[in-house]
Amino acid sequence: MTSPAPVSVEAAYDAEVFSHAVDIARSRLRQCLRDQTGGVTLVPPKRLMEEARSLMVDSHMGQDIAAVQFDPERFAALVDLHIRTGIKVYSPTALARQFSFVFPVSAVFNLVSAIAPQPASFYEAGQLANVADKLIAEQFAPLIGWKTGEFEMLSTSGASLANLTAILAARNSILPDLRMQGRVIGKARPAVAVGADAHFSVKRLAGIIGVGEDNIVSLPLDSARRICPIAAKHALLNAARQDKRVFCIIAAAGSTSVGAIDPLSELASLAREHQAWLHVDAAHSGAFLVSDRLRPRLKGLELADSFCLDAHKNLFVPALCTLLFYRDKASAGRPFPETDSYVADVDEHASFESGHKNFECTKPPAILNLWTTWGLFGRAVFAAKLDHIVELARMTYHFLANQPDFIVEPEPDSNIVCFSYRPHGCTLEHLGPLQKELHDRIRADGRFFVSTVDLDGRSVLRLVLSHHGTTLDIIGELVEMIRGMADGLLAADYPLFQKERVYAP
Ligand SMILES: *Cc1c(COP(=O)(O)O)cnc(C)c1O
Repeated sequence: MTSPAPVSVEAAYDAEVFSHAVDIARSRLRQCLRDQTGGVTLVPPKRLMEEARSLMVDSHMGQDIAAVQFDPERFAALVDLHIRTGIKVYSPTALARQFSFVFPVSAVFNLVSAIAPQPASFYEAGQLANVADKLIAEQFAPLIGWKTGEFEMLSTSGASLANLTAILAARNSILPDLRMQGRVIGKARPAVAVGADAHFSVKRLAGIIGVGEDNIVSLPLDSARRICPIAAKHALLNAARQDKRVFCIIAAAGSTSVGAIDPLSELASLAREHQAWLHVDAAHSGAFLVSDRLRPRLKGLELADSFCLDAHKNLFVPALCTLLFYRDKASAGRPFPETDSYVADVDEHASFESGHKNFECTKPPAILNLWTTWGLFGRAVFAAKLDHIVELARMTYHFLANQPDFIVEPEPDSNIVCFSYRPHGCTLEHLGPLQKELHDRIRADGRFFVSTVDLDGRSVLRLVLSHHGTTLDIIGELVEMIRGMADGLLAADYPLFQKERVYAP
């Protein structure tokens, strides 16, 4: 018999310590929920390291049990530092990022499943987590127009991983030789076609799976930054002439830059003509499926061979929680077929688990955060929040378009609005640098948080409207702030306005 665990370990696990820590975190988080300033406080990394280090017990003093007492003040300081250096998604003026203030109950469930885990790959370990996948798939079936039992939905950690998994399904379905022999028969080179605005996780795929980045066929965009089907048709014909065998076309439903939704029905036809797989990276806007008002924007999604959506973006649950859908259930086993023998051994439990279909082995049961929220409030709460933020994006676009000193990008398909501020006297050439300067100044000011994005080499400001409390009045305040900042720059003879001016050192 070994002796009982050391006192220090017992102390770290004490149920009272847990309650005390929860109380501290709860009071801090409650203040967050009232915070109305969405800025981020950037601390220089070296200073932050020092500060964070100063909060750690000294581990080099030997195994001093006394040090392993729970110190509520130290814990509070750790929590405070985390909150102070984080992005304040809980504020309606946080407009920079694609993930939103999560439904607080989904975050509470995240804590529940951290203490009482259900690692989700195998039924034995994660019973409810595996069942939740099926229940969420069932909810989505009528929204997509697919039949339960015919399609498959898996949850995974992030759209980057879902996109990789989907392209493996495409490769193994369409070019099985490539998987087994590392090449295809004949002289054609395997290739993938992606929109010019594709997310970097998509642009990396050809390199990752060995198809080669030279074999990415870039599909041109139209003026709304959606893939242009006619130009895409030409690009694919051109690729075929160069002996490139495009086996997978990847479209976007909600591009990261501007939220553009590609013409999915047309791209599905093109994919069929070229015997290619259509995957839709719907990480951003796939969530529109839950809203009766927004769903029509995803017309054609049901024709895709696969698509993914990030529930940690527009379904407002903690990261990471991604849903990967296959139109044909059989496709779900194709990415990692080496486990075929195991799958053949199907029993009632195995048919419920995703371990053999997913890249991940230990998988967090993030689906439960979605399932709890959906179970408590139904689809309506997601739909209402999405309807609000997408409508706000439309109103913001029109509001900005009506300001003489603002330039807007095309009308948004999603909840992302891109624009530039162009004060009198600012040349086109200086427009991009000015937006970056404004971005930095807005961040330094601390009331708002916005982002910038490069569109064909032009920097523009970008708002992701994702908080239910953001209003057009708040956008109006941002607009006034931008004008004030630009006036200040002008008064200070900021070089972007006065290029010719020579400054004395
Ligand atoms: C966010 C995003 C991704 C990456 O998703 P992760 O969940 O961060 O891995 C991929 N594609 C698009 C269009 C996105 O918006």
